[in-house]
Order: sequence, then C-alpha cells, then structure tokens
Amino acid sequence: MHYVSTRDSEGAGAVTLSEAIHRGLAPDGGLFVPRAMPRLSIEDFEGANDPAEIAAVLLAPFFDGDPLAAELPAICAETFTFPLPVLELDGGPAVLELFHGPTAAFKDVGARFLAACTQRLEADADGPLTILVATSGDTGSAVAAAFHHRPGIEVVILFPAGLVSARQAQLLSCWDDNVRSFSVDGAFDDCQRMVKAAFADADITATRRLSSANSINIGRLLPQMVYYAMASLRAARQGQPPPGFIIPSGNLGNAFACLMTREVGLPVGEIVLATNANLTVAEYMDSGDWRPRVSVPTLASAMDVGDPSNMERVFWRYRDHAGVSDAFGAVSIDDAAIRETISAGPARWHQVWCPHTATAVRAWERMPAADQARGWVLVATAHPAKFDDIVEPLIGEPVPVPAEMQRLLSLPARAETLPPDPGALRARLLSV
Ligand SMILES: *Cc1c(COP(=O)(O)O)cnc(C)c1O
Repeated sequence: MHYVSTRDSEGAGAVTLSEAIHRGLAPDGGLFVPRAMPRLSIEDFEGANDPAEIAAVLLAPFFDGDPLAAELPAICAETFTFPLPVLELDGGPAVLELFHGPTAAFKDVGARFLAACTQRLEADADGPLTILVATSGDTGSAVAAAFHHRPGIEVVILFPAGLVSARQAQLLSCWDDNVRSFSVDGAFDDCQRMVKAAFADADITATRRLSSANSINIGRLLPQMVYYAMASLRAARQGQPPPGFIIPSGNLGNAFACLMTREVGLPVGEIVLATNANLTVAEYMDSGDWRPRVSVPTLASAMDVGDPSNMERVFWRYRDHAGVSDAFGAVSIDDAAIRETISAGPARWHQVWCPHTATAVRAWERMPAADQARGWVLVATAHPAKFDDIVEPLIGEPVPVPAEMQRLLSLPARAETLPPDPGALRARLLSV
C-alpha cells in the first residue's frame, strides 16, 4: 500500500506508510491518503475479538509492503490496552465509550499508535527526536502520555495558560523525564506560531531533529478505524443491521476514520457529524458553500474549529457537495442545548455526559422517532471528569474521577511559564 497527497492527482509522490507517518504533511502541503482503499469483509475477522486482534486484521492491508508490517501486531497490542465498551441505553441508542485510556479522551488511541510506530521508526536514527506540539486541550496530554519514557524521543508541549480547564492543564503539566511542558501566557494561536517559528529556525534544526504529532498524521487516523470496526462487527455478530454513528466532530479526524471503515466494506450505516456552534460544516451541508472561518469558543472546546483540516481528505474522497451529502450528514448543537443535555443526562439515561459527547446525544434526541429507530451508536469522546468545571454545576454532584486520571492529578505540576514569544521557546530549545 502506498500513500499519496490529497493534492497529487497523478500519485507521482507516492510514499510508504512509514514515510507518510514520518513526514506528517505531504511536501505539497496536502494530507496523506491511501492510494487505494483495501476491501475487507466480516469473514476476514473470524476469530478476532478483542480490539488488538481486530486492529491487526483491519490495518494489515494498510501496512502491506511497509517496513513496519511485521511489527503491526505488536504495535496494536501496545496501543489497545484499555477497554472500548459499547453500552446499550435503556430504550435508547448505544454508546461507544472511547475515554478509558490514560488521559480520558479518544485521542489516546491515535497518540499511542503513533508513538508505537515512531519509536520503531526511530530505532536506527542518530540522535534524539524532538516532537513539538501546540495544543488547546486533549491532544497534548494524550501525546505526552503516549511518548513518556520512550527512549530517543523528547516531547515539548505548549498550551495556552488559562484557556484549558484546570484538570486539562494538570494533565498537560504532570510529566517528567522526556516530556517538557510550557504554559504560554497567550492564546492557542501564539503556541502554534511559536512552534512554527521553531520549525523554520535553522539554528534549532541544526541541533535537533524536529517532528510534530498533530491530528492530520495518517498514523493517528488509521487506528481510529478500529473502534468503528469493533462496534460494527459486534452489531453484525448479533444479527443487527449496520448501525449508524453520531460523532462529536471538530477537525473531522474521528469522522474520517469512520468513513474509511465503511469504505473498506464493514457494515457501517449512516454517519452523522455532531458539531458545536462552529457552523462551517453544518452550513456547508445545507448550502454547498465551503466557508472556513475563525473559530468561536464553546463548551465543547475540543471541537472549536472553524476550518477543519480533514475536510481536505473528505473532498479528495467525495469530490463535491452531492458526493459529500451522500456520505454523511451534519448538525450543529449550541451551548444552551449542550447544557440542557448534560443536566438531563442523569435522570433520562443514568449517564453523565462530557460537553462533546452531549452534542451527539442531543443530535439523537432531536431526531424524529422513525429515524431514531434505525439503530445508532453515539460516540463518547471524553470522560466527563475532565470537564468537571462545566459538568458538576449542571448535574449538581461531583463526577467520580477514573483511577489513572486521579494518579496524574496528584503528581506535581511541572510546566514552565513562557511569554508568547518565539524567542523564549528558541532559548529553551537551544540551551539543552
Ligand atoms: C479532539 C476531540 C473531538 C474532535 O475530534 P476531531 O477528530 O477533531 O473531529 C471531539 N471530542 C473530544 C473530547 C476531543 O478531544
């Protein structure tokens, strides 16, 4: 299997998966996509039950011919160490819980897989690799946890002070050894500007090999197909029709993984993207006009995206408005509706929702009964304890904290404060 850029219609710059993972972004600025979509059937998964086994079968064609192919089962075993349960709500939809990993959001899956691949690709490299991450929340902590203690790889995280929840800040700051975090006195855009300046700085790149771990990396996208495959196989094995999925979406990485799972031939029904008050995707579905814009802040902050990067992959695959509308639907859920859904969750469903998951719940609750009856899986992207400051006042009681999060919350915070100035990061990167 080779990977091409979304902007390279001739496929002239095709690379191996290892190369695509290593580069992150294609040289022409496009995103890497598989040159051809492999086809699989339910029978291929006979005997595969737990997530690591399903992952090894599902991802084998994507690793075909790659130097990492022989390592794939080990990479999957290292990634899928936590449960990905499907819950049936009484008289309602199913919920696919993706938040039982170390940092309590679905981004643990992609980050752990990327770390397992990167460490193997780095085995013969000369000198350590520095992974630079600007983050506004869940990505940074997932990447930190995934790369912590991996030899030969250093992680440097920048996050905007005061613009992430207190617990998110702690999950970004609690690391030691090969992970350093900086709390930047500025906005997410300042963090991103500082990272970009470091990549463009010849003095820094002369002394360090730099890499990023952002969500457009194909090494984060592929493993996210695994839980959709799992949930769809589960339905098929129970004799149910292909389930639809409602996915809380921002940059559309998680949604694109679901689309790919259906493209390879697994029984996935309709796909609905639940977005927040950032209207770019929902308006496009209605109007056919693609109008990226500046993001607006919402309660579902990990989805505050006005120009979703994975839309480029969507256009590559489905071409135009007719093709895209055939492939999936999208709805927008505002903060008032998110609040109501969280407040009503304990009485209506015996569930506490995080603000992101609440958008999917609301999207389902809003459907006419005939549509609801088709059989849906709601994707729960984060644990509500991560957003206790929003959730607890709405439900009027504390949210129990998962054991691993409790452990991370009890560690000393080690982030160093930086001014929003590329020179400050430069000095830190050049001094050690
Ligand atoms: C990142 C994130 C999302 C959005 O996922 P995309 O792949 O960017 O669409 C949704 N919910 C949570 C909790 C997240 O961290």
